[in-house]
Amino acid sequence: MQKWVYTFGGGSAEGSAADRDLLGGKGANLAEMCNLGLPVPPGLTIVTTACSHFYDSGRVIPDALKDEVRAGIRRMERLTGRQFGRDSRPLLLSVRSGARASMPGMMDTVLNLGLTDETVQALGHDAGDARFAWDSYRRFIQMYGDVVMGLDHEVFEEILEDEKARLGHEQDTELSAVEWQHVVARYKETIEEELGEPFPQDPEVQLWGAIGAVFSSWMNARAVTYRHLHNIPAEWGTAVNVQAMVFGNLGNSSATGVAFTRNPSTGAKELYGEFLVNAQGEDVVAGIRTPQNLTEAARLAAGSDRPSLEKLMPDAFEAFQAICDRLESHYRDMQDLEFTIERGTLWMLQARSGKRTAKAALKIAVDMAGEGLISEGEAVSRIDPASLDQLLHPTIDPRARRDVIGSGLPASPGAATGEIVFTSEQAVHAQEEGRKVILVRIETSPEDIHGMHAAEGILTTRGGMTSHAAVVARGMGKPCVSGAGMLRVDLRNELLITQGVTLGKGDVITIDGSSGQVLKGAIPMLQPELSGDFGLIMAWADKTRRMKVRTNAETPADARAARSFGAEGIGLCRTEHMFFEGGRINVMREMILAEDEAGRRTALAKLLPMQRSDFVELFEIMHGLPVTIRLLDPPLHEFLPKTDEEIAEVALALAIDESVLRRRVETLHEFNPMLGHRGCRLAISYPEIAEMQARAIFEAACEAARLTGAAVEPEIMVPLVGLKSELDYVKARIEAVAKDVIAEAGVGIAYLVGTMIELPRAALRAHVIAESAEFFSFGTNDLTQTTFGISRDDAASFLSTYIQKGIVEQDPFVQIDFDGVGELIRIAAERGRRTRNNLKLGICGEHGGDPASIHFCEETGLDYVSCSPFRVPIARLAAAQAAYRNGG
Ligand code: PEP
Ligand code: MG
Repeated sequence: MQKWVYTFGGGSAEGSAADRDLLGGKGANLAEMCNLGLPVPPGLTIVTTACSHFYDSGRVIPDALKDEVRAGIRRMERLTGRQFGRDSRPLLLSVRSGARASMPGMMDTVLNLGLTDETVQALGHDAGDARFAWDSYRRFIQMYGDVVMGLDHEVFEEILEDEKARLGHEQDTELSAVEWQHVVARYKETIEEELGEPFPQDPEVQLWGAIGAVFSSWMNARAVTYRHLHNIPAEWGTAVNVQAMVFGNLGNSSATGVAFTRNPSTGAKELYGEFLVNAQGEDVVAGIRTPQNLTEAARLAAGSDRPSLEKLMPDAFEAFQAICDRLESHYRDMQDLEFTIERGTLWMLQARSGKRTAKAALKIAVDMAGEGLISEGEAVSRIDPASLDQLLHPTIDPRARRDVIGSGLPASPGAATGEIVFTSEQAVHAQEEGRKVILVRIETSPEDIHGMHAAEGILTTRGGMTSHAAVVARGMGKPCVSGAGMLRVDLRNELLITQGVTLGKGDVITIDGSSGQVLKGAIPMLQPELSGDFGLIMAWADKTRRMKVRTNAETPADARAARSFGAEGIGLCRTEHMFFEGGRINVMREMILAEDEAGRRTALAKLLPMQRSDFVELFEIMHGLPVTIRLLDPPLHEFLPKTDEEIAEVALALAIDESVLRRRVETLHEFNPMLGHRGCRLAISYPEIAEMQARAIFEAACEAARLTGAAVEPEIMVPLVGLKSELDYVKARIEAVAKDVIAEAGVGIAYLVGTMIELPRAALRAHVIAESAEFFSFGTNDLTQTTFGISRDDAASFLSTYIQKGIVEQDPFVQIDFDGVGELIRIAAERGRRTRNNLKLGICGEHGGDPASIHFCEETGLDYVSCSPFRVPIARLAAAQAAYRNGG
């Protein structure tokens, strides 16, 4: 039989921390704290599957669930000696959401449930504090009216402000019982007027209303967006926690607060948090009153003259500190805690693993390993690889001239340059076109999340360090300057008006999220330097991992950056990128436009020294580490001019007739260039291109070996192979060139020839292809494209719809489609190695820098992953975590 409800409290619980999937994070940890004998107000958790059931059944709450909840409430009544809704000692409830994965602030909460015109009197009498009772009642009506009945909370705020003004009060705390009673009356009248129904006076009705509202909030727009961003499946559902209320607002011996067991910004081992005397938890969150420090040390550091909890309520503080230590060593992780002190008695309301910056995560992991709380391998596994992005962003070169046009708050570290856009739609559109933008807004809201994702950085003219823009950008690890009030955004005319300068959409600015400065134009950046805890974690990661990590790079700058991030070679050098630079593109065009082989060879002879010197530099930087160089891959028309002006320009430069050029461009046009004349097909049509590239590689290898003294063993990679015969044809040409160069140079050259696996046929025929290929590199960008039959260039227009509609969970161009593309990789790896047991296997598609895909690569037994330079540390860490998980 389905069990819908798990109870907790009174020193035990039906569930535990292990039941997170079923009870949600909050419910599971409340149960765990009860099992540890900690003071937790009794309650019950409605399981997450009830939420799914709620949606599947047309938003109906099953009778069996209702019965179990009622039984749970009877248990709470026994444990508290109170009664829900009827007694002289009324039991009040909190009703809160709690999903498997923490979704802070995304769903709804109702507090003080069970108050009615009758029970409010009883509560006042029982507490000996009528003012408290009426204040609680108005809080309840306000929350319930908003969350369950759907009346905007501002309606209530207005009434309250109006009453305070009428009475001449500044603070809520100045209102008397009678005055609160009056506010309550106005709230209820307004509800009835606005909604045509009275505020419910039956606590049972209130309860089901609140539970239904929490379930419904799982599907609110905020929650949907958050899930989307954090890959939380909709079918998980939220649990509902119904718990006996305890009150931090029962006078000056009561308080409520939040705490982290270590500093979540720096990771320092110190109790970090704040509290409010005579307040309810929501008051801390709302930030209306300024909270006080927990410890004396923090109070002194902040220079506050308001007493710390340590001083004010020493007994409760001591008890709390002991619980912090206990929970930290129990969970072996930094905890984020909520507590309430009711008339001197401490109650724990929540424990969860605390969110932290990347810097803090590193320090905490290193410290905890040092304290013997966790092993080095566990320390490595504690760091979210993607969070390293926060530490890896470029900063503005201090020597650069700064054209400062304004400043705001340094809301999220790192610097970014881009064109100004004023809406999220513009940001997304620009990103799709491959342009980098800074999203400039007055302030952001959750609707802007997609725009913030698409932007390089965010600039707002309003909002503080905890504004939406600041909090969200920090989470994303994106640079953000917020509250730059000296700048003005004119949305209608799409202008950013600054001191003396007016900029428009498309103008380039740089923001420095570390200093808060806004600068005109693009500014030189410095690569971040990483040390200390980062270095230690990386060293532990390197000890743990099995797979090597290489980089995809073709420029010396990228190759150097990658080396500094710990790349162990180049996994993909896309040689075509080298032909777009400076004087090369026209020589390349000359080659493409040549009428015959002789003409091509003439142009190729000019390209040879350029390619050779590029390779020498790469080999030098890599100093003996493996370098995989791929032969020319893209369709040739990519190098040709497109617009009339470009055609005219190129014709002039190459001294050919415009009409001849246009005809040649037209001849090279293809309907499906990605499936057309590209990859090894080019080398088969024009072997002289492959020969030139092979010669450049071999000559550069000899030269670099001579310069560095380190032997170079180039790996020459043939793209888009589907048939062994294709590879054999190209390989024969490479071998012939090798022979010539060896003879000319009089030295031996060791090299490998391998292929990319980018076509399903290549994967399926891997055992045959491996007879000729000495290595495989999985080109998962193309392999995803060719397996799905989805154009990687056109996917953006419909893949987001696919994801939104749940047709696919992940973008397969970001994370390997384990079932389909993954199956082909497994097949190719297994069949390839069957033929050649020392076949080197790597991946060089974008997936090589994606942590989940890296786990897949580890499981599939690949030798290395290759990714863009900035993702190298992420890949090192993810590879270590994958090995740790496999081995441990
Ligand atoms: C690939 O297809 O995965 C790959 C690395 O090659 P490119 O992205 O250059 O097509
Ligand atoms: Mg490819």
